[in-house]
Amino acid sequence: ELQELEKFTFKPAITTDGFRVEIAANIGTPAEAKPALEHGAEGIGLYRTEFLFMNETTMPSEEKQFAAYKQVVSTMGDKPVIIRTLDIGGDKELPYLSLPKEMNPFLGYRAIRLSLDQSELLVTQLRAILRASAYGKVKIMFPMISSLEEWRQAKHIFEEVKDQLAKEGVEFDPSVEVGIMVEVPSTAILADKFAKEVDFFSIGTNDLVQYTIAVDRMNEKIGYLYDHLHPAVIRLVKQVIEASHREGKWTGMCGGMAGDPLAAPLLIGLGLDEWSMVAGSIKKVKQVISQISRGECEKLLEEIQTLTTTSEVRKKLAEFQKEKG
Ligand code: PEP
Ligand code: MG
Repeated sequence: ELQELEKFTFKPAITTDGFRVEIAANIGTPAEAKPALEHGAEGIGLYRTEFLFMNETTMPSEEKQFAAYKQVVSTMGDKPVIIRTLDIGGDKELPYLSLPKEMNPFLGYRAIRLSLDQSELLVTQLRAILRASAYGKVKIMFPMISSLEEWRQAKHIFEEVKDQLAKEGVEFDPSVEVGIMVEVPSTAILADKFAKEVDFFSIGTNDLVQYTIAVDRMNEKIGYLYDHLHPAVIRLVKQVIEASHREGKWTGMCGGMAGDPLAAPLLIGLGLDEWSMVAGSIKKVKQVISQISRGECEKLLEEIQTLTTTSEVRKKLAEFQKEKG
């Protein structure tokens, strides 16, 4: 059984009727890039850069960041690496920034909000990322975008940094794609508007579930409510993927839902283009995808859309899994 599963590690993820998706890994440090490859990752779908900042006593310099990003990009060779700008705040603290205590940290001064407010920080990070782009296939994404203004402001800073680097004669890839995380309901709801302006979406179900169902992702007491198979979450995910495709853009997913084998048929039915997960889940998800057809998953999706509760969705997906298994 286990040997059977191992065989899928380096296989592409293609359904029986020929729909191919990209399976990537989430990483938090450069040291995780090589193990990700060894687990069959076809790219890095989410590099959480905040750990580089959290493991320091002062703000990491442009050089220090550049070295870390370059290491990941070089390790991955010609495979894509999506680098996410700083997602600090919420549960993640930075001692040297002395962030104020907040009543609702997850609804507070975090991620892109902080990066736009302290834009010298974002400029430094974007310079380091763009410099690393000369060594491989880099894409950039912004976390916690909740309005088009935030996206446009961040994109504007990105363009300014590119101009500046060009003026300085510094090498970078001028075609770097820039996208956003979709992890706040307002952004999922306005996906059609965003899709006209961004290069790609990456759905962060960890936060999207938290904000859609109003359930703290860290609170075990209400953990039973926290579920990416909630019909409202599915509806948002569907809307985001469809909106991107209408504009000829692609959608990835880097939240926990992407690595859930039970959810895989649903995500195939939805046409999710890129899936990013903890490296350990890759072979299993590849195996599931190899054993199903997009056609049957689209039918399954239609049935799921008629359901009204999370437990009905779970039951339906479990039945499907059993038929296949
Ligand atoms: C998410 O919210 O789904 C996500 C991938 O980001 P993080 O888990 O780092 O908040
Ligand atoms: Mg998140």
